[in-house]
Amino acid sequence: MSFVAFKLHPSILANITALGYETPTPIQVQAIPEVIKGKDLLGIAKTGSGKTASFVLPILNIILANGEGERNRKPKTLVLVPTRELAVQVTEVFKELSHNLPQSIKSMAVYGGVSINPQMKAIYGVNILIATPGRLLDLHRSSAVNLSKVETLVLDEADKMLNLGFKEEMQEIFDLLPKKRQNLLFSATLNDQLSGLNNVLLLDPVVIEIEAPSEEEDLINLSGYFVGDDRKGPLLRHLIREQDMKQVLVFTSSGDKADKVAWKLIKNGIEASSIHGKKSQSARTKALENFKSGKVQVLVATDLISRGIDINELPYVINYELPRSPKDFVHRIGRTGRAKSEGLAITFVTREETHHFKVILKKMKRYIDMVDSETLDF
Ligand code: ADP
Ligand code: MG
Repeated sequence: MSFVAFKLHPSILANITALGYETPTPIQVQAIPEVIKGKDLLGIAKTGSGKTASFVLPILNIILANGEGERNRKPKTLVLVPTRELAVQVTEVFKELSHNLPQSIKSMAVYGGVSINPQMKAIYGVNILIATPGRLLDLHRSSAVNLSKVETLVLDEADKMLNLGFKEEMQEIFDLLPKKRQNLLFSATLNDQLSGLNNVLLLDPVVIEIEAPSEEEDLINLSGYFVGDDRKGPLLRHLIREQDMKQVLVFTSSGDKADKVAWKLIKNGIEASSIHGKKSQSARTKALENFKSGKVQVLVATDLISRGIDINELPYVINYELPRSPKDFVHRIGRTGRAKSEGLAITFVTREETHHFKVILKKMKRYIDMVDSETLDF
């Protein structure tokens, strides 16, 4: 099928072509017509399957169809995301798809960690606001934004947004929104949160669940190494050199550890930087930009970056430390094998973690032939 079938505005179609999208992905095929119809929707599809455009395209189309409204501080569309980096990324997709439209559509990201004043000013005239919850509430308290005219609410990484960590902020935001609105929820992993969703999705939602691909067709290849904590650093350097990894994202379980691993790599002549919640926003932005552009070979990150971040054709992800939950594992490895490119996700496992790792793989219905690092020469 082609994008033409959605009957999107021709200038939106032109932007799709300019982005190089040829055919819609399965989630786009199913979601776009339902969103245009105004339905509430729960969309579940694996990491890298194009969920962003499946809400961006119909939302732009709806705004165009409704014509120009008055310019004020009352966005019609609100997109909530868990991290600042994801807010920026989703906003880029909105912007790329709203070039040269017959009416200018203003989308804007607001997030914490940077000064609030420029955001307060810039919100004026916004159609689509992409926000992290905390900063959105700050802006509301300063009367820089009014949420009473929101017609469409999107929760990207919906399970995370409805998780305990955001509960109070989300409740506060829901209270500021009109009761009658369109709700769109997207996630790669959604199950135990489903009961909580009923409070949010008001009108009998369309549920779209794109089947996960079977192991043979999964673009993310998995491998694993048994390795003691003291040998992880040398093994990491060995793999980077031996497999000539030009771009690799390494996950650790804490910010301190991420700093240490990056520092050790640098000391050994491998270009690396770290990214985590304790870094300043400017340092976070710079680290991610330099990694995306290929200036820095290795980015060592916490789960901060595990959700939603799209790095073009990222070939390698390494779990230096195991995540606690299978869900985090799914999101971490989902940074590779995106769109149509293949990727390899390598996991380091200590002997004590064998059982935990088996549980993760079982949940994912995947199998790995583990390599014992003791048998390797490095
Ligand atoms: P998800 O949110 O499902 O993890 P994204 O929306 O971030 O995935 O999209 C993953 C990648 O796929 C992005 O680089 C995006 O530009 C690309 N993409 C999205 N839709 C298409 C399409 N129809 N054809 C080709 N590439 C696409
Ligand atoms: Mg996404």
